[in-house]
Order: sequence, then C-alpha cells, then structure tokens
Amino acid sequence: MQKVVVVTGVSRGLGLELCRQYLSEGAKVYGCCRFPEQSQQLLELKRNAGYQFELVPLDITQPGMIHNLQYVIEEPIDILVNNAGIYGPSGLSYDEVTVDPWMEVLRVNTVAPMMVTQALVEKVAESHDKKIIMMSSKMGSVGDNQKGGSYIYRSAKAALNAVGKSLAIDLAGKGVSVGILHPGWVQTDMGGANALIDTETSIRGIRKVIEQLSLKNSGQFINYDGSVIPW
Ligand code: NDP
Repeated sequence: MQKVVVVTGVSRGLGLELCRQYLSEGAKVYGCCRFPEQSQQLLELKRNAGYQFELVPLDITQPGMIHNLQYVIEEPIDILVNNAGIYGPSGLSYDEVTVDPWMEVLRVNTVAPMMVTQALVEKVAESHDKKIIMMSSKMGSVGDNQKGGSYIYRSAKAALNAVGKSLAIDLAGKGVSVGILHPGWVQTDMGGANALIDTETSIRGIRKVIEQLSLKNSGQFINYDGSVIPW
C-alpha cells in the first residue's frame, strides 16, 4: 500500500530532501511550506512528481492555516514529520538574550509542532504506520551541552523534546509512536557550509530510523545514525 507522508518546512534543506527521498520510495507526499511558489527546487520536484506530490501552503505559526490542514489532507497519514524550524539570533551571550526573539523561536520550534500534531493526530492514528516525528537537535540535549551559550535554540529544542516524550506516552494507547530525532550537523542554510554531512546522507539515516520506529522505542531521542542521545 502506498505510504502517505506529511512534512513541514519543505522549501529547502532537510524538508526538501525528505520529500525527494520519500517520493523516490513511491510514497504520496504532502509538502507544507510558507511560500511554495518561491522555491525553484521545490517547484521542479513537483513538476517531476505530479500528483504524487501535493504542495500545501502552511506557516506553522498561523492557527487558521493549521486548522485547515485537516480538510486539505483527507487521507490517513502514515508519517508526519514536524521538520520546520528556525535558529533565531545566534551568538548572543547570557546578558544579550531578549524576550521577543526567544518567544518567536519557542513559537516556531516548540509550540507549532504540537499544534500541527494536534490537528493531524487522528489522521495519523487511522493510518497503517502511525508515526509522528519531531525534528529536534542535539543542541537541545542538556546532558550533551559542553559549550554553553545558544540559550534560545537550545531551550526551544529541549522543550520540544519534553513535548515529544509526553506525546509518546499519551498516544501509545492509539498505537501512535513518536520519534524525537537529531539529523546530524547538516549542510543547509541553518547548518552552514562547514557542517559535517550533506542532506542526502542525513535523510537516508533519518528514513532508516523512522522505519525502525515502533511503540517499543517510541519517545526516544535518536541520532540519524540510530544511536540514542542523552536528554
Ligand atoms: P533550513 O533553515 O535550511 O530550513 C528550515 C525550513 O523551515 C525552511 O523550509 C523554512 O521555510 C521552514 N520554516 C521556518 N519557519 C517556518 C514557519 N513559521 N512556517 C513554516 N515553515 C517554516 O533548516 P534545516 O533544513 O537545516 O533544518 C530542518 C530542521 O532540522 C529544523 O527543525 C532544525 O532545527 C533541525 N536541525 C538542523 C540541523 C542542521 O545541521 N541543519 C541540526 C539539528 C537540527 P522558509 O523557506 O519559508 O523560511
């Protein structure tokens, strides 16, 4: 049976590569992003994939657009990947961090994935695979933090991890498993040119981790190579 995959933040980077690889696997993919018409790579992928690939306009901070998702995507969803995210202002020391940019990063990286999940969870529960993914970051690991700094991004991803863990517990009764994943340090607009791996390598690993996700390992924080990351 053809899998149905929904991905947020598909205009570029990891989201775009997730679409590319799931499409080449034969899945039906709903790619959500703010301005589908502005990404040439996305439009090219759409031209090649045709009806197998639906582009859905979605700003994950807009409640009305999130609410509409349940009407736009009518079929059961095997895999929902909450991928969209921002880094926010970088390089701020402890005495430079301010409230508004922090709230914005929390809104996008922590609150919005929960709201998207709320809107689509029943469709995931109706599917065959029943998997929800939170694209987190090792930067959100408290145990792994050896460098300090990055208050805004770290705290938003640490909070996302807490959300993912509670969802894993609360949704187990519906048969839905939740993966909290780290994609590696990846060459994207966010990861920068010096990052260690390319999007193809990262998403190949991420797809394998998603394939191996089940109720048995639901709620774990897992690296793209399959290893478990400390909270
Ligand atoms: P990019 O900056 O390359 O892409 C981010 C994507 O998120 C874009 O498609 C962007 O859309 C989208 N996005 C941002 N804000 C919103 C919003 N309000 N509504 C909808 N879409 C939005 O990042 P990556 O591909 O590198 O990162 C993807 C995920 O992986 C993120 O959650 C990130 O935190 C995580 N990650 C990345 C790492 C890396 O090394 N690259 C390491 C660890 C985690 P638009 O084009 O419209 O701005």
